[in-house]
Amino acid sequence: MPSSLTQYPKESLVGRAYTFAEEAHRGATRASGDPYFTHAVAVAETVANWGLDEASIAAALLHDIAEDTAHTLDDLEREFGAEVRFLVEGLTKLTALPHKMEGGEAENLRRFIVSFAEDLRVLLIKLADRLHNMRTLAALPPERQRRFASETLEIYAPLAYRLGMQKLSGDLEDLAFPYALPEEYAWLERTVREPYEERLAYAQALIPKVRELLAAHGIGDAAVDARAKRHYSLYKKLLRHDMDVSKIYDLVAVRIVTGAIAECYTALGAVHQAWPPLPGRFKDYIARPKPNGYRSLHTTVFCINHKITEFQIRTKEMHEEAELGIAAHWAYQQVRGSGNVSGWRGVRDRRELRWVEQLRNWQQSFGSRDEFVRSLKTDFFKDRIFVLTPESDVVDLPAGATPVDFAYRIHSDIGDQCVGARVNGRIAPLDGELHSGDVVEIITQRGKKPSEDWLRFVKTAQAKQRIRGALRAADRRFIGRADAGAVEFRITNEDRPGYLKEVTAAFGNLKVNITRLSSDTDPRRTFARVTAECPPIPQHTLEKLLVKLKAIPGTREVRFTHRGGAVTTPHRGASRGGRGIPRRSKT
Ligand code: MN
Repeated sequence: MPSSLTQYPKESLVGRAYTFAEEAHRGATRASGDPYFTHAVAVAETVANWGLDEASIAAALLHDIAEDTAHTLDDLEREFGAEVRFLVEGLTKLTALPHKMEGGEAENLRRFIVSFAEDLRVLLIKLADRLHNMRTLAALPPERQRRFASETLEIYAPLAYRLGMQKLSGDLEDLAFPYALPEEYAWLERTVREPYEERLAYAQALIPKVRELLAAHGIGDAAVDARAKRHYSLYKKLLRHDMDVSKIYDLVAVRIVTGAIAECYTALGAVHQAWPPLPGRFKDYIARPKPNGYRSLHTTVFCINHKITEFQIRTKEMHEEAELGIAAHWAYQQVRGSGNVSGWRGVRDRRELRWVEQLRNWQQSFGSRDEFVRSLKTDFFKDRIFVLTPESDVVDLPAGATPVDFAYRIHSDIGDQCVGARVNGRIAPLDGELHSGDVVEIITQRGKKPSEDWLRFVKTAQAKQRIRGALRAADRRFIGRADAGAVEFRITNEDRPGYLKEVTAAFGNLKVNITRLSSDTDPRRTFARVTAECPPIPQHTLEKLLVKLKAIPGTREVRFTHRGGAVTTPHRGASRGGRGIPRRSKT
């Protein structure tokens, strides 16, 4: 038995599973020519190293039994009990996931989600399985290599990342990269090889200097390590930076692992004192962890010879969490309570696992499978951005998400009633793209309904679903009708905090929906201008609204334009003109 499994005696659950699997796979070989059993053992070892319980290790040893041998799931249940059967069954279902998914066979993916949302151990064993498959990918025919590799990049590496298993995620990506994107990989090798080795030598030379520096500040026992950036993450970063290597700041990263949090900040101070930091590159993920739970201090400095170098500073505990994620604080209860097979109590409430819950709820709410898979891919497997509420809560969204997506993520009512957004203190368009680190504040108007127009730019399925639902429920005579025309108000005002809120309140009091709101806050001008648009409204409402707007302290001038409806409805257009609303009026 391999080292990590030797602690389990022959008659234990793991020991019995080992003997059973060895027997069952006897004679079978892998594509590499190795005995098939070596794969089961490798997966079990990984699972054991992550600190999972005996049932998980046993299930890892048995994970391919029902698929590849004459034994059935019922046999396994008789031999090893219901829990092991449950885990193996979840994994057996997953085997079919890969290639069929693209062909609209979403059912497998759906089952996969259901299994792992029910018991995360299924997902962890699956990830260990995938890791070994990727390490032994060379033996497979090219077509299968490519398929396995792209799936790893698209689904498994992001999943590992979302579970906080950064190292596993990076390992999977680097193993998959050459197979999934061979040309891109070759290009990257050519472009960065020489500088890569130079950088590595530089990084190595840096280690003793950093140790000295820390010792001088009383942190003698910190572990210092340096590395050059991983291949696939470098490639992803280059895609975002016009393939320009000179724009990448963390090609060399030094990692300092200390004993206590206070030492992290001392070390940071020491680094900043020795080498000037680059502005805007310091990130305190200790005070504000990433949504996947990652904690660390990051800073970039002009280091020795003015070389740009990234420093990551964290405690031993944080380091282990970053390496192992969820498995590091695995709190599985050996004693199952209330017959509930999914025993991940203690980790269930952790912030980083909320998305698993969310995922399960969503998959229940989707009618069509295709829609579910599409939303799964865009909402969970694409690159994420992390933005903040004014109260500093972190909200994670898919890249490209807009303030409307943000609003719906906070609360469906806030989404429905959203009329404008302030991003980093400035009014921003509702269809503008948000970026990581943005502080987003939503301006709402009570009673407001969502616009059909939003469907053009929202990125999350959550927002889309909700907008569609609200539109269906809403009065179709006005909402979103292109031929209904609109009234546009342009309000010149003295710029002051709270002004916009009073404008939206004026509309709200008269139950007039704002369909568009923007604010021009050119700092060189003494006055600001607010533009607000609403559907056509009766003359008496218009007059009341004008009075209210003019009464707001700071208002200098209110102009409005009545934009006519579409030419296809001449009658409505004519009758509107006939009501005597001036096309443009200065008040
Ligand atoms: Mn396997």
